[in-house]
Amino acid sequence: MANESIRNMLDRPEAGGPGVVQGWLRSVRHGKGVSFLDVSDGSCLAGMQVVADPGTEGFESVVRGLGTGSAIRAEGEVVESPGKGQRYELHASRVVLVGEAGADYPLQKKRHGFEFLRSIAHLRPRTNTLGAVLRVRNAASMAIHDFFQREGFFYLHTPIITASDAEGAGEMFRVTTLPEEDPPRDAEGRVDPSRDFFGRPTFLTVSGQLEAEIGALALSRVYTFGPTFRAENSNTARHLAEFWMVEPEVAFCDLGGLADLAERFLKSVFGDVLDRCEDDMAFFEKRIESEAITRMKRVIEEPFERIPYREVVSILEKSGQDFDFPVGFGLDLQSEHERWLTEQHVGRPVVVTDWPASIKAFYMYRNDDDETVAAMDVLVGGVGEIIGGSQREHRLPILEETIRAQGLEPDAYWWYLDLRRFGSVPHAGFGLGFERLVQFMTGMANIRDVAPFPRAPGLVEF
Ligand code: ATP
Ligand code: MN
Repeated sequence: MANESIRNMLDRPEAGGPGVVQGWLRSVRHGKGVSFLDVSDGSCLAGMQVVADPGTEGFESVVRGLGTGSAIRAEGEVVESPGKGQRYELHASRVVLVGEAGADYPLQKKRHGFEFLRSIAHLRPRTNTLGAVLRVRNAASMAIHDFFQREGFFYLHTPIITASDAEGAGEMFRVTTLPEEDPPRDAEGRVDPSRDFFGRPTFLTVSGQLEAEIGALALSRVYTFGPTFRAENSNTARHLAEFWMVEPEVAFCDLGGLADLAERFLKSVFGDVLDRCEDDMAFFEKRIESEAITRMKRVIEEPFERIPYREVVSILEKSGQDFDFPVGFGLDLQSEHERWLTEQHVGRPVVVTDWPASIKAFYMYRNDDDETVAAMDVLVGGVGEIIGGSQREHRLPILEETIRAQGLEPDAYWWYLDLRRFGSVPHAGFGLGFERLVQFMTGMANIRDVAPFPRAPGLVEF
């Protein structure tokens, strides 16, 4: 018999006909002369109810001894379900035990705390919540590719090992093959990177942006979508040490065009995910965040508000709110400011534009006021900053000057500067943290619960 997922089985136009279900038991109920097995194969949120009775082959030898977590194969007939909440069920003619789970199986029918589930990350994809998260991640990934492909972007694979530091700041993971014991040293006794694998210090990338700019200045529109790494020791609910980033980069584009792109992008991805993950999203709305679907719909339907940073500062100063962190020109916005602005003050996504040059990276386009740069952060409710981007400085002298002013060495950026020597054009791009996007969609409070294998300080077991 052909292998049919539960999802496909539930999509059958009508009941009747043979069916095979293979999956793991979420719960088992044994009644008098009948057993109800709730089987999940992960293909959708719903499981398939398998009904077995003494006429079922294996009823006494297999079914009556089954417990949660075991893997089974059930063959039988797909019939209308008299029970509530499910369309069909399988009347089993035969049940086979494929893989037993003993009584010490750690997942039981009751709800488990997310922190506990993190300690059994090898089993938590079998829970409703994590299963739904993984399916939403999948749908969102495809929606992201679909959007960019439709808009004529090329998917560019930027490197994971890099010799350049995109932000001009630390917090990178070192990549080395030098021996721990007695590594080669230079004349001053320091570990000698020239004898390392690449002949110089190398790191895991914090962003594919600099390389994406190479792509944009040849293919006009590119995007990267890959893992990025930050060794920041921040134990927050929205930072991971390893996360996936989506980074479009567009030639002949300014900050206004970039904000338009970000808005079209989020609307398109949210629309697709709502279409493709109806059951999973309904689950998040019921169990995790009662606004999950509503706030996605609001992002889709309402225009984003654009406010210059300078104005944001004055709005925050006049807000009468008792913020923990100070507000003022030249200070970064904290999560509390971001959330108040977008949730309370505007009630819609906000694009904060034109930030003080003093707190932004060297590659951002310097505005005419010589004090701000053409940068933007897109803020959404619940999460705060979801996208950070900028128009890039494409004028060689200004870029060189900023690199020096930030204490960096222009020579180290020779190829990046070359792009400003040979056919430089205005261009812009942004970075979206994929896990922050999933957090927003699902309403999951902690970013560690939207990554299948979260990496954070001290968290690396699975
Ligand atoms: P934040 O201020 O929230 O720490 P950032 O300004 O350092 O973020 P960028 O360098 O602008 O972040 O990165 C672009 C996007 O990547 C952010 O808007 C965010 O969505 C995501 N991001 C950044 N750092 C992390 C992290 N440690 N874990 C998960 N996502 C992140
Ligand atoms: Mn940012």
